[in-house]
Amino acid sequence: MSSRGYDYDLFVIGAGSGGVRASRISSSFGARVAIAEEYRVGGTCVIRGCVPKKLMTYAAHFRQDFEDAHGYGWDKVNPGFDWPRFIAAKDAEIDRLNGLYTQTLANNNVTVFEERAVIEDKHTVRVGDKLITAKTILVATGGSANLPSIPGVEHAITSNEAFHLDALPERIVIVGGGYIAVEFAGIFHGLGSEVTLIYRRDKILRGFDQDIRTRLQDAMRQKGITILCQRDVSAIEKTADGLSISLTQGHSIKADQIMYAIGRRPNTEDLGLEKAGVQLDTSGAVIVDDYSRTNVDNIYAVGDVTDRIALTPVAIKEGHAFALTLYNNTPTRPDHHNVASAVFSDPPIGSVGMTEDEAMDKLGTVDVYVSDFRPMKNTLAGRSDRAFAKVIVDGKTDKVVGMHKIGPDAPEIIQGFAVALKQGLTKTVLDSTVAIHPTSAEELVLMSKKRN
Ligand code: FAD
Ligand code: NDP
Repeated sequence: MSSRGYDYDLFVIGAGSGGVRASRISSSFGARVAIAEEYRVGGTCVIRGCVPKKLMTYAAHFRQDFEDAHGYGWDKVNPGFDWPRFIAAKDAEIDRLNGLYTQTLANNNVTVFEERAVIEDKHTVRVGDKLITAKTILVATGGSANLPSIPGVEHAITSNEAFHLDALPERIVIVGGGYIAVEFAGIFHGLGSEVTLIYRRDKILRGFDQDIRTRLQDAMRQKGITILCQRDVSAIEKTADGLSISLTQGHSIKADQIMYAIGRRPNTEDLGLEKAGVQLDTSGAVIVDDYSRTNVDNIYAVGDVTDRIALTPVAIKEGHAFALTLYNNTPTRPDHHNVASAVFSDPPIGSVGMTEDEAMDKLGTVDVYVSDFRPMKNTLAGRSDRAFAKVIVDGKTDKVVGMHKIGPDAPEIIQGFAVALKQGLTKTVLDSTVAIHPTSAEELVLMSKKRN
């Protein structure tokens, strides 16, 4: 042990979005930091989440681009898609990023243990057969995909495996109606698979604005994705030519793969948290205060394991705020208000602030402005797909409380407006903003008529 009594000032468990940020910033403030990672440095987002997923959405979108080019004078092409070549290219990029993250930790003097860590007591962590002590422990272990308890579930995959399939499935069933299900439905459809999405309620993307949900569901169906609502899977059976998937409502579907995307659970199992007395909620998430501190004074937690908002930039902000609070004498609460998010579905969605229903519930009087338009690129392309944008305004204060968009580039567009919303954007300011023409983003500053 060092003169300060512990092997390290800070031991971080999990080198994902939150853990990497917390450890490198804490180290830059002079803390002696170690981090343990049981799989690959970079965590879910970099290794088997946001990044490979986004690369797959790019790959999938080329189909549409090739089709659209004809209307613009290009000869018709019908190129094939080489799944193994794409997967190899994607994996090389993930390896590069994994190397960069590992290098960043080394450059910031963070000691990396490439092993699983478990808590032995409030100051001790076991890594392999080593016992390591630290003044502070940060739990940043993320989450894992849920699977149901049904016969044959061992034949199902999750997003983890979807990134590494030997071949592109000809037919895939995806269960769930949240972010991952709709994103992968668009990806596999774009790449050429026959996709069936099975969702247990009546409309996908619960929690998003109703108009956006309806439009996405309709657009996905129009593109050729089969969406079966009010359905669930009761059993999966391996057959000579793939899988037979039985639905609770009776009939069965044949497919080559079935992928579950029914939510994720916090990685707190067998982590030793109970030995240190750390409290969990009923879903297994670590309970923390506004500064990410648990009920045990020297143990903190950030990211998906706390189940606040399960997004990478949120985990990063929480990790950064933790480092500022503990090692820079600047108590900082991560701000979870008006966090913008995107769904990389086809078409994609960008969203910030309240949905119309939430705004009605909370504010009573709201003014709603909408624009339903055909993006200019679709004209010569001969594509009938439309885009849609909605601005929700507090009728009493003129403040914009929600902005939602579905259509090309919606995530890129909403990011900029999210800054304005955080700054207290009003409808008057939106109206006084000169449009950039011709864009689809301009629709958001050109809405003059309230929807009745
Ligand atoms: P993670 O990044 O999950 O990191 C936790 C790390 O801890 C993991 O590497 C794990 O191996 C390690 N670990 C766990 N237990 C131990 C242990 N006992 N010892 C050592 N190491 C351990 N978010 C977005 O914002 N945008 C997106 O587009 C997006 N797309 C996604 C797509 C998919 C398919 C998935 C699954 C998630 C996506 N997310 C996206 C969510 C995002 O990945 C997470 O919110 C983010 O990674 C959370 O960061 P974290 O640090 O909390 O955990
Ligand atoms: P979500 O929570 O987004 O969606 C889960 C879906 O599965 C919901 O439609 C839910 O239905 C359904 N479901 C839940 N339990 C069951 C069950 N037992 N049987 C059948 N259906 C069920 O989770 P995901 O797995 O899609 O993603 C996890 C999280 O990762 C997201 O919430 C998000 O925070 C993050 N993420 C972010 C992305 C981004 O930023 N673009 C992309 C991917 C992931 P119901 O509506 O009825 O609850």
